Amino acid sequence: MHIRVLGAAAGGGFPQWNCSCPNCWRLRLGQFAGQPRSQAQLAISADDVHWFLINASPDLRSQIDAFPPLHPLRLPLRNSPIAGIVLTSAEVDAALGLLLLREFQPLTVYATGAVRQILIEDNSLFEVLKRLPDQVHWVRLIPGVAFALGDHGLKCIPVSAASAFPGFVAPARAAQLVDSEAVLGFFFEHGGHRVAFFPGAPCIYPEWLDQMQTCDAIFFDGTFWSDDELIRLHGDGKTARQMGHHPVTETLTALSDLKARKIFIHINNTNPMLDEESDEYRTVRSAGWEIAFDGMDVVL
Ligand SMILES: [Zn+2]
Repeated sequence: MHIRVLGAAAGGGFPQWNCSCPNCWRLRLGQFAGQPRSQAQLAISADDVHWFLINASPDLRSQIDAFPPLHPLRLPLRNSPIAGIVLTSAEVDAALGLLLLREFQPLTVYATGAVRQILIEDNSLFEVLKRLPDQVHWVRLIPGVAFALGDHGLKCIPVSAASAFPGFVAPARAAQLVDSEAVLGFFFEHGGHRVAFFPGAPCIYPEWLDQMQTCDAIFFDGTFWSDDELIRLHGDGKTARQMGHHPVTETLTALSDLKARKIFIHINNTNPMLDEESDEYRTVRSAGWEIAFDGMDVVL
């Protein structure tokens, strides 16, 4: 199983176009000990030939371009090694990239019923994915029900990770949808190996810990360092948990007993651990965690 991190940042990327937080400001000045990151995006393959995208980030076009195994073959004229896309949620940073794949390439998109409804029933822009009858085939994900990703033994187990729908979904619409289908995490299995991917999770449930004990690698929500990170910066606003993210400081404790390779992903540009000269960076690294970056590989 080969997992490639095509992007490691939270929504907005790093630096974010309209942000002058200490991280973004210093990065632009060339005075930051750390690297820029595009918005969180994984690609996964069981055979290094057929690939699945995990989410479809707003940076997807350049992310595909930067990773040659995702390029088309010389012939036929139109083709792609990308066999399908698996969505964790209907958030902009998880799903906008679907629109960048509108060039009539047959694709399979795996999403919960709620995510599919939000995207294609409530947004006429997504009609661009329905211009040919066989353009996009939607497969419905049900939390807790495992499914095969392609024909090469790659298995995916979706898990309900949070119950809040994106802020752009009208409350009346959200009330019609199934809460457990709002945000997913995934376990991927192949050849006796197991990887967890939870880029957005406000809580850590005991049953996840049991399943994570047998993982070789865990990608977990690294959005915010502390619960009040954005409130400290802006003077008001929501906590990390209210935005659907478990603070890194508490994750370090909650997942400390796991033997797996542990990697924070979906890192917000305000997170002080991005600065490799910071105390926060040293704390994370000395606790045995890694911080995902664009171009990181996990091969099992
Ligand atoms: Zn910033």
